[in-house]
Amino acid sequence: MTGATPAWPPHSLPRLFVDQALAEGASVTVDGNYLAAVLRLGPGDRVKLFDDRTGEWLAEIVEAGRKRVTLRVGERLRQREDVPDLWLVFAPVKRGRIDWLVEKATELGAARLQPVLTRRTIVDRLNLERLRAHAVEAAEQCERTALPALDEPRKLEALLREWPADRLLYFADEGGGERFAPASGPAAILIGPEGGFTEEERAAIRALPQARAVSLGPRILRADTAALAAVALWMAAAGDWSRHGER
Ligand code: SAH
Repeated sequence: MTGATPAWPPHSLPRLFVDQALAEGASVTVDGNYLAAVLRLGPGDRVKLFDDRTGEWLAEIVEAGRKRVTLRVGERLRQREDVPDLWLVFAPVKRGRIDWLVEKATELGAARLQPVLTRRTIVDRLNLERLRAHAVEAAEQCERTALPALDEPRKLEALLREWPADRLLYFADEGGGERFAPASGPAAILIGPEGGFTEEERAAIRALPQARAVSLGPRILRADTAALAAVALWMAAAGDWSRHGER
C-alpha cells in the first residue's frame, strides 16, 4: 500500500440514483436486486447515492434483503454539478442504436436529450421509460450527479417555431456547412434520421437565425456517430472538459 491514493471514500463503491431528495440521516429504501442479490452487500456496507437534486451522498446499508435494501444517508460527498448547457436534439433511430446514443450522450455530459420527429424519421414510438433507465445507468456509472433531462418527442416544425432566442442550434448538415467551432453559451446540436433531412427541412432549419449549419467532415456518418462526434467536439471546446483537473 502506498499513501498516494486517498482510501476514503473508495472509488469503487457502488453508485445508485434514487428518486427522492437526500439529506444526512435520511433513510432510503431501494430494490434489493442489485445491491443484495447481485453485489451481495449487507449491513455495514457502503454505497454512494445521488438524487439529481442535492448531489452525492455516502450511505450505509442498515438492512439487506433480496427484495429491499434500507440505507442510512451519511455525509454529502459532492454538490450537484452544473451540467454544461448543451441539448442534443436527435431523430430517433432503431432500438439498439438509440439506447447506445442515450448512454453515450449521458456519459459525454449532455444536459438535455430531445427526440425530434422529422419527415424521414422511421421510429415514431419511443419507449421513454427504457431510455430513461439507460440514462440513469450511464449517470450512475460515469459519476454524474445530475441526470440529463429526457423529453417527449416533438415535431421539427414545432421545435423550430418555439426555439429559444438565446440558444444556438448547431445543425449537423450532411450536405455541408461551416467547420464546427463551438462558441460558449447555451447551445443545441441537431442530428437527422438515417434518411437525412428533406430539402424543405434543411431550408427551414437554415432559416432560423439561431441555426448554424455545420459539417462533421466529408464522410456520411450514421446518426448516432454524428451525434456523439458533435457532442464531443462541443464539450471539448465549449463544455467543461477543459476545467477537469485544472489547477
Ligand atoms: N441518408 C443521408 C445521411 C443521413 S446521416 C444521406 O445519405 O445524405 C444522419 C444524420 O447524421 C444527418 O442528418 C446529419 O444530421 C448527421 N450527419 C452525418 N454525417 C454528417 C456529416 N458529415 N456532417 C454533418 N452531419 C452529418
